[in-house]
Amino acid sequence: MARQMNIQCPNCRNPITAVVESVIDVTSDPQAKARFLGGRLNAVTCPNCGTPVNIATPILYHDGSKELLLVYVPMETPLPKQQQEKVIGELMKELTSKLPKEAMKGYLFNPKQALTLQGMMDTILQADGVTPEMMNEQRDRVRLIETFMSTPADLLESVVQQNDAKVDAQFLQTMSLMAQRMVQENRPDLAEQVLAVQERVATYSSFGQTLLEENRQQEEIVREVATELQALGNGATRADFIELALRYGADANRLQALVGLARPAFDYQFFTEFTTRVGSAPADQRDYMESVREQLVQLTQLVDQQQQMVVQEAAQLLQQLVNSPDVDAAVEENMPYLDDTFMAVLSANIQEAQRTGNIQMSARLKQVYDRVVAALRDNMQPELRFINDLLSMPEDQARKALAEQAADFGPVLVEMMDAVQEILSSRGEGELLEKLATLRQDAVQALQ
Ligand SMILES: [Zn+2]
Repeated sequence: MARQMNIQCPNCRNPITAVVESVIDVTSDPQAKARFLGGRLNAVTCPNCGTPVNIATPILYHDGSKELLLVYVPMETPLPKQQQEKVIGELMKELTSKLPKEAMKGYLFNPKQALTLQGMMDTILQADGVTPEMMNEQRDRVRLIETFMSTPADLLESVVQQNDAKVDAQFLQTMSLMAQRMVQENRPDLAEQVLAVQERVATYSSFGQTLLEENRQQEEIVREVATELQALGNGATRADFIELALRYGADANRLQALVGLARPAFDYQFFTEFTTRVGSAPADQRDYMESVREQLVQLTQLVDQQQQMVVQEAAQLLQQLVNSPDVDAAVEENMPYLDDTFMAVLSANIQEAQRTGNIQMSARLKQVYDRVVAALRDNMQPELRFINDLLSMPEDQARKALAEQAADFGPVLVEMMDAVQEILSSRGEGELLEKLATLRQDAVQALQ
């Protein structure tokens, strides 16, 4: 529901072609809500002089799941009431033409008019359970971040200490979100500044110090558990894992690290064996063993739920890419989320479409796949792209290309090959690993 509009930069008068969205339907475009609340809707940057320009346009906001219908007509274009109603009527027509019949309910005939954009955003947040107090707190946080950002480096420590009580988890999270948004707005330089200040705020504040210490301890525990798992080796039996868990039993952090690192070991058979162990143990130990078993059950469920959520998010993103009128732009916008899980979901969907003979869907999915692969390739470091290309060539051809080009990349090529080797071995890609080993030897030789 976006259209192009030609405007003029208020600063340099340069003509700008902007994409303008006037109708936001959260059901059909879930990301539009975040775009709107983040102030990124109908905002462009003049390509000529860099001035940020907000385009004043009427906005109709619809969230079917909350029966929320809001409309805003900007003050910049004062319209007589009659004309305002005409504008709103047109937006309503655009919205309702896309809604299924069963979604047509009473509230759709009575949009609530917001006087300001901020007021519209507040109403949307309130419908999410965000109270005005919470919004004020959030505004205070943003103001304090701005204060920290503009404090000279040598004074930051004392300014943070003066505000020590205000630095908590939500405060640091607000800084992270701010940095994330800046990356999305193509300002990685600003994001880096925010993250650098965030790191110093964490170091100087009581909350941050406690958090850093907790993280350090947790990391140490994960390292220790990982070492013990490694010591068990590939021949580890379920009985070994039961032993380890019983030894960790009193330490919930250690159990959590164990399940997180070796989820596949905690399968149905593991828990059956565990139950048998409990049954044959001396009576005075059973309660303790039973409680460890119960903790492990809960931890595996937790890990699985997290995994499922990740998969669901990937599936939603795929849906969005498939439905997008501009796949390239959508792929570009979602680069950070195009990870292994996403690729696995995409491949599974292609297979499923082929299996059920859905030719149209399968073609569309393959198109998305090609774009994603191309975009990932474009974003790769040159060495990585080269290694990737080598691995997809026949071996003699790859060795020839490597001999010719290895010197252009230098020793970093071998380092990158080692990184790729780790990824491939974690995925159990035996054939590619062999090929990579041969190429690595060639690379070392060529670089001597
Ligand atoms: Zn300009």
